[in-house]
Amino acid sequence: MSEHDLSSHGSVANRVASLEKGVRYVCQRCAACCKWPGDVRLEEDEVAAIAKFLNLGEEEFIARFTRLRSDRMGLSLIEKDNHECVMLDGNSCTIQAAKPIQCRGFPNQWNFPGWREVCEAIPVPDGSAQ
Ligand code: SF4
Ligand code: SF4
Repeated sequence: MSEHDLSSHGSVANRVASLEKGVRYVCQRCAACCKWPGDVRLEEDEVAAIAKFLNLGEEEFIARFTRLRSDRMGLSLIEKDNHECVMLDGNSCTIQAAKPIQCRGFPNQWNFPGWREVCEAIPVPDGSAQ
């Protein structure tokens, strides 16, 4: 997987899912998608929700944990020096209950060419229990 492909981490709006019909993928919590370089896009209403989840005011949350997205059209979570998302602790998301739609949507709502090489999600018949 190239850096170019991995940069899709933050480009939900520009990506489409290319999945087999009747199949969905169940996340195995390997956290690989939390470690790729790139934006973790925050929608406007997600800023307030995540700030509240962290018991922070919106301004403090924005100052401590966000930056401008690469397209400068909104905010992204910041990343650590090793490119992991700032909200990752080990292999766990510390804002799991309030994580952004970008995180919840991968890989079933959006993905990128070659995603299965770097994601451990398991295909199951669509409609089956998770
Ligand atoms: S890379 Fe795939 S299996 Fe791993 S945490 Fe992300 S969605 Fe889940
Ligand atoms: S917010 Fe959570 S799920 Fe999303 S990239 Fe960061 S650690 Fe991963």
